[in-house]
Amino acid sequence: MLDKASLVELLAQSKRIVITTHHKPDGDAIGSSLGLYNYLIQQGHHVKVITPTDYPYYFNWMPGNDEVIIYTDRLEESAELISNAEVVFCLDFNALGRINEMGELVRKSNAIKILIDHHLEPEDFDDYRHWDINACATAQLVYTFIADHLNNKKLVNKDVAACLYTGIMTDSASFQLPNTTSDVHRITAELIDAGAVNWRIYDLVYNNGSENKLRFLGLCISEKLEVLPEFNTAIITVDKYDLAKYDIKTGETEGIVNYALSIAGIRLAAFIVERTDKIKLSLRSKGEVPANDICRKYFNGGGHYNAAGGHATGSLEQVVNQFKLILPEYKKLLIK
Ligand code: 5GP
Ligand code: MN
Repeated sequence: MLDKASLVELLAQSKRIVITTHHKPDGDAIGSSLGLYNYLIQQGHHVKVITPTDYPYYFNWMPGNDEVIIYTDRLEESAELISNAEVVFCLDFNALGRINEMGELVRKSNAIKILIDHHLEPEDFDDYRHWDINACATAQLVYTFIADHLNNKKLVNKDVAACLYTGIMTDSASFQLPNTTSDVHRITAELIDAGAVNWRIYDLVYNNGSENKLRFLGLCISEKLEVLPEFNTAIITVDKYDLAKYDIKTGETEGIVNYALSIAGIRLAAFIVERTDKIKLSLRSKGEVPANDICRKYFNGGGHYNAAGGHATGSLEQVVNQFKLILPEYKKLLIK
């Protein structure tokens, strides 16, 4: 493990740097990556952001977006960049499996690996770690990494600030989750002072959807929602024909699970969707109901205590039934 002084020394001279983040990047993944990118390029580093897959179009306005390499579109170039990198930043994920085939490339690379993350139980592959499960977003940790570990708050310009603000806004569900502490609000205020235009960023991210996206949400709520009062659980189930009919794009199902959790008394919400190759689950919970434990134990996944995801094979119906069969195990916590 590197110490802080060696980290500062490492980044004091121009380096070949790759920044990567998890599969299907969300606002925190892409916001923290581009926030760090916009910081590092000011210091003469050669920096590439490589994402394992594509990400939602409503993040395309972010400064630096045009420079992002999507691994699945540019395999050879990405592999070369990773193997030639001197430093690889791993942002917003805790295990190399979360970046698909890129994981093995990063593992094999001789680069110094720096992990900045807020997920539970990180795998041991890094040389420097800025990790805090209490952080509301990895973007918050990128801010403290720049400000405290590198002592370079003055380089948080409007581009860095806009990206980090986006990460914090999206991962805190617009500043409403319990980990949106006063420290988070102080950092957010500093980002606004540095040039992040908070109201405009909200508009770009949340008021930028297609008509189909809104109509699809209507379908989910009116026809696809099942409430199981005996377990205080609500499930929204969507098949691949629904996705095709509404031409649903990457990221357009994000947040739908929260509507299921918005019903009074509901403590566990699931959004279960049939993708082309697998069934994907998004879970959200309240209080002591361990969403991550359910995903880890039964659905090849993980995440945070109250927000987690996973996947399964089999038919949509089988996976929904499997999910229902698991509920009795958690009944005590669900009906508390
Ligand atoms: P979402 O439901 O929005 O896809 O994911 C919620 C949280 O669970 C995120 O923090 C995400 O990183 C994590 N997560 C989602 N899917 C998986 C998965 O397949 N494996 C793991 N380990 N975490 C996941
Ligand atoms: Mn995050």
